Amino acid sequence: LASRDFHPEDTVISIKGVDIGGKELVVMGGPCAVESAAQIDEIAGLVKAAGGQVLRGGAFKPRTGPYSFQGTGVEGLIMMAEAGQKHNLLTITEVMTPEYVDICAEYADILQVGTRNMQNFDLLRKLGECGKPVLLKRGFSATYDELLNAAEYILAGGNPNVMLCERGIRTFEQYTRNTLDLSAIPVLQSLSHLPVISDPSHGTGRRELVEPMTKASVAAGANGLIIEMHTDPDNSMTGDGVQSLFPDQFANLLQDLEKLAPIV
Ligand code: PEP
Ligand code: MN
Repeated sequence: LASRDFHPEDTVISIKGVDIGGKELVVMGGPCAVESAAQIDEIAGLVKAAGGQVLRGGAFKPRTGPYSFQGTGVEGLIMMAEAGQKHNLLTITEVMTPEYVDICAEYADILQVGTRNMQNFDLLRKLGECGKPVLLKRGFSATYDELLNAAEYILAGGNPNVMLCERGIRTFEQYTRNTLDLSAIPVLQSLSHLPVISDPSHGTGRRELVEPMTKASVAAGANGLIIEMHTDPDNSMTGDGVQSLFPDQFANLLQDLEKLAPIV
């Protein structure tokens, strides 16, 4: 079902007037984690003012260590839904387990599957029945074929609204946190009709590389971007402050993108 042979036309996912996979470039921006109502409200205002369409923020965080901050949970979901509504933005949040799919689907417009869960098949099956669009991140050691097979689980469950996300893969290079595989963008678009979103934040792990790799992703044909932005990255509650843009950097980048994005 994910293959272009089966479905030659590009899939366009329409959510409350925003088309993902069409001619317009979609930008999802926000913090790694929802930290407080005030934090997500302020950042939502900045994402909207910069021209973004979707507010990102994790309420449930997949942390490498069990003693690290694990997210604000359902309270975070509620805070983000309120900020999204107030600022007229769609929302995207990560869901980590099948048990939480229903509650995440109640509060968010798009459900994100994180890189560590790309092959959590029970989660994927549940997302096939959730009735909400899904952004499926590529596992950091997954091939294109494995990513497309993971998408197939969601599609086969009856949910046609799946976006594929390149978020960097693990290579021998240590300077960057991950290596953003730009080739994934045109390759996935040739193999599949599903929209392809690039995540230059996790894809590099370094703030100064987010701007050039965002632009490179757009040049490579990405349908959208998911970018971390924080008002106080040095004090962010996850380790992802080092890759989060400051609000002015985010706004300037979106302005530059208007010059790069395909002219409709
Ligand atoms: C995130 O988006 O904050 C995140 C945890 O992403 P990934 O699954 O790509 O590491
Ligand atoms: Mn993050």
